[in-house]
Amino acid sequence: MKKYLYQIWLFFVVAIAISACAPKPYALTDKAYRQQVKTLAKTIRLTDSVALTDSSGRSIPSEWVGTTNFNLRKPNYVVIHYTNQKTSDETLKTFTLPKTEVSAHYVIDKNGKIYHMLNDYLRAWHAGVGKWGNNTDVNSSSIGIELDNYGDGPYAPAQINSLLALLTKLKKAYNIPTANFVGHSDIAPPRKQDPGVFFPWKTLAKKGFGLWYDDTLQPCPDDMDYILALHIIGYDTKDLKSAIIAFKRHFIQTNIDPQFSGAEMDILYNLYQKY
Ligand SMILES: [Zn+2]
Repeated sequence: MKKYLYQIWLFFVVAIAISACAPKPYALTDKAYRQQVKTLAKTIRLTDSVALTDSSGRSIPSEWVGTTNFNLRKPNYVVIHYTNQKTSDETLKTFTLPKTEVSAHYVIDKNGKIYHMLNDYLRAWHAGVGKWGNNTDVNSSSIGIELDNYGDGPYAPAQINSLLALLTKLKKAYNIPTANFVGHSDIAPPRKQDPGVFFPWKTLAKKGFGLWYDDTLQPCPDDMDYILALHIIGYDTKDLKSAIIAFKRHFIQTNIDPQFSGAEMDILYNLYQKY
């Protein structure tokens, strides 16, 4: 009996020793994350009232009076990306090196595993310079999701299944409007191509993530202002060629020339009325 107990004891000692030695490659960056959250918490704990001066330099009277009625701001958009890297490990590394200055809330690998890298309420650095409608700080209002894909082929079904599950959760949790599920190339047409022409936007739209055009289309009016139509959807049309390509990358996919055919104009006409 004693020997039996000794064996159990030995088993636990060995198990603990093995788990202690198991490599935890992100232990240090996890610690850095917690430290940074602490620093941010200090910022939101501040209760200094606003200090302003008028045009003659006199200070404007002010006082802090804490309200009882508030909560956290929440994301209202989801931006989908491809990583353009070879493996999700490479992406995890990229997103945990301070010098890269890029990150996302979630990374989904080809097997459908979801890496959650940042609390949804915090601001990831995934959108960069971009504009959607009049929103010029997409990072502040969005969740960024990176899909492990090099941009040169279809997405793995397991990966899309996980994405759909994640989007379902996010849409419900933050009441994100159907139209506000967009791609990186939509919000930054001159700079970005992701998630690319292989991304299954129609599948997503069927589940309520992003809009799609009707199966039956009415011919668009001859005098349709297609620039205005793109703008109403959300595209920044300052670089018009890029905006047309971005639209086609999302909604046409089989052809991304920087001009519209008649049939493509009908799609645009049908779509913009939904926004
Ligand atoms: Zn991107």
